[in-house]
Amino acid sequence: MSSPIYKANSTPPPSDLPRPPSQSVPRHVLYSQHVASVLQIPELKADALIHGFSTMELGSVGLTHAKDPEAVRESRRRFAASLYLDPDTLTVAGAVHGAQVARVDTPTESIQGVDALITDRPGVALFATYADCYPIVLWDPKHHAAGLVHAGWRGTEAHVATAALAAMGKEFGTQPEDVKAGIGPGICGNCYEVGAEVAERFDPAFVKRSSGARYLLDLAAANTAQLNAAGVSDVFNLDLCTKESEALPSHRRDPDGTRFGAIVALR
Ligand SMILES: [Zn+2]
Repeated sequence: MSSPIYKANSTPPPSDLPRPPSQSVPRHVLYSQHVASVLQIPELKADALIHGFSTMELGSVGLTHAKDPEAVRESRRRFAASLYLDPDTLTVAGAVHGAQVARVDTPTESIQGVDALITDRPGVALFATYADCYPIVLWDPKHHAAGLVHAGWRGTEAHVATAALAAMGKEFGTQPEDVKAGIGPGICGNCYEVGAEVAERFDPAFVKRSSGARYLLDLAAANTAQLNAAGVSDVFNLDLCTKESEALPSHRRDPDGTRFGAIVALR
C-alpha cells in the first residue's frame, strides 16, 4: 500500500480518520509522527457504532506471546481510550480459528474458544487480536447490534463471518440486507502463500498459482463472497495488507507474537 497514512514521516493523515470529538482532546492522543494509531473503515463510520484497528503506533496488543505483558495491557488501554472507550469494558475473544460465536451482554475479561463476539449493548467493547488474520466488523443499524469476527484460513473455511451473522439474526433479529460489513487489515491475496492442502479447501476463484507447488489465497475475497452469498451486499474492505505495511504486525513477516487489535462497540 502506498497511502501516506500508513507510512511514518509522511504527510499528515487525511481528515476522515478518527478524530477527537472536541478540541479539548489533544491531537497527539490519536496521532504520533503522522502515523494513525487507529484505522477505521470510512463506510462504517456512524454515530451509533465505534470501531477501529490499532497500528504499531500503539504497540503490540497480543498477550499470548508477550515478553512484557504490562506493556501490552497499557497498549490495550491506550487503544480503548483513543476511541473514547473505558478500557475496563474490553471483552476479548480468545480465538481458536473456529466458528464459535459468543453473545456479550456485559463486559467480560476474556471469552475462550470463540472467534466471533456479538452484542446489542452499549458499554461492551468487543476486542480481538490479529497478525495476518482478518478482523471483520458486522453492523446492524436497524437493530443496533454489532459483531467482531476473527478470520484466518481455518475460520474462513468454517464460515465464521456468516456464523456471526446468523447468531445476530437469532439473538437480535438482524436481517442480512440491513448489515454493513467491514473487512479490516489482513494478509492480502498476493502475499498469503499456502500449500495445496490449504488451497484445495477453497473455491478456485480465491486461489491462484504461486511458484512451484505453492498457491496464493485471498481470504478477504473469500469472506466477502461468503457474506454476499448470505445476503450482505454492503461489504467494505479496508484493502490494507499486514505483510506489506510496517505499521501493522504480520505473522508471516515477523512471527514474534506481535498483534494489532480490533474494537467494535455500540454507543
Ligand atoms: Zn500483501
